[in-house]
Amino acid sequence: MNLPGSPFLQYRGEDLYLEDVRLADLATQHGTPLYVYSRNAMRAALAPYQQALEGRQHLICYAVKANSNLAVLQTFAQAGCGFDIVSAGELARVLAAGGQPGKVVFSGVGKTRDEMKLAMQAGVKCFNVESTAELEVLSDVASQNGLTARVSLRVNPDVDAGTHPYISTGLKGNKFGIAHELAVETYRRAAQLPGIEVVGIDCHIGSQITDVSPYLDALERVLDLVEAIESHGITLHHLDLGGGLGIRYTDETPPDARTLIGQLLARIDVRGHGHREVMFEPGRSLVGNAGVLLTEVMFLKPGEQKNFCVVDAAMNDLMRPALYEAYMGIVNTRQRRGETTTWDVVGPVCESGDWLGRDRDLNVQPGDVLAVLSAGAYGMTMASNYNSRGRAAELMVDGAQVHVIRARETVESLFAEERLI
Ligand SMILES: *Cc1c(COP(=O)(O)O)cnc(C)c1O
Repeated sequence: MNLPGSPFLQYRGEDLYLEDVRLADLATQHGTPLYVYSRNAMRAALAPYQQALEGRQHLICYAVKANSNLAVLQTFAQAGCGFDIVSAGELARVLAAGGQPGKVVFSGVGKTRDEMKLAMQAGVKCFNVESTAELEVLSDVASQNGLTARVSLRVNPDVDAGTHPYISTGLKGNKFGIAHELAVETYRRAAQLPGIEVVGIDCHIGSQITDVSPYLDALERVLDLVEAIESHGITLHHLDLGGGLGIRYTDETPPDARTLIGQLLARIDVRGHGHREVMFEPGRSLVGNAGVLLTEVMFLKPGEQKNFCVVDAAMNDLMRPALYEAYMGIVNTRQRRGETTTWDVVGPVCESGDWLGRDRDLNVQPGDVLAVLSAGAYGMTMASNYNSRGRAAELMVDGAQVHVIRARETVESLFAEERLI
């Protein structure tokens, strides 16, 4: 069988292994639903980014929202990464995991004054500012506290990344970034504001991008702006090209990071910008194919129109199918011989949108443990407690070693902050 993504996930005989660990054993020992990540798959996904940027002033800022478990952040911090955060909560996680504040960039359209102050006090590398209004407030917070905010403006290059509308961010109609036409005047404003130090420019055009061309288009537009901005005497030290590189969920063929970055750097050099620090903010491409969600088959419910395979993981554990109608591979952790049947794999939550996979050919029996593939990104971080379901446990495997990196949430903890009247 052809599994997407990670060479660290493979069948040995009939059993599915992540690195040197048999996944069915983990389900028996730790229960299901269960997220399991491969530490070496994360390191292997980072390597082509690092190789492509070797010998150049650069910073790879892992986008924390893709998977914010402390042990994941620790893995990237130890590998030399910085972090792209979107809240004070994510900043606290980065610091708790041993990340350096000087390597943190703070993105997002709705930073609060408290968040701005905390991030400035922590000494983040840069705020990626998304509007003039935010810029004015940031300047005010900085001045009031005798601090300086280093900023880059997130510009909206108005390119179509060709992805699902919910995950494209670089088009005119999106809420993100400062419109291309307004960028120069906003930079001029920024340069005059007290407490603001302009240090760079950034863009982030979307997610699950499987083509190099939207990146190249965005780069040209951003470099045009850099030249226009610098003609007004404003110096930009760094160029942050965001994240968004796609992964293979089923039959996508995204470029590998080394190819993508190689092409971008070549263009940067040709246009005479090779002296700038280059930054990227990858999330999904570093962790997506490093993780699986294990779930046990509870009941088989064959029907006239549809056959339902009811499993113990649900949309609250893994939102992507319900939210984006996303396809995620589903396989049995112990392959059975014989005929397959077509199943809709669904969870126990009281919503018709609660499905993990539709029309999947599987040979399954109650008690089998299924693996939902490519679940390392935007899985656990989007999990909720809907239907009063405690969130899954998380494990990290490293070779043959297994680390519990988050205990299963207890039911009592779900309502511990609630009070009877
Ligand atoms: C979400 C996000 C990223 C990471 O996107 P991926 O598709 O996971 O690589 C990077 N930068 C910003 C500003 C983001 O919002």
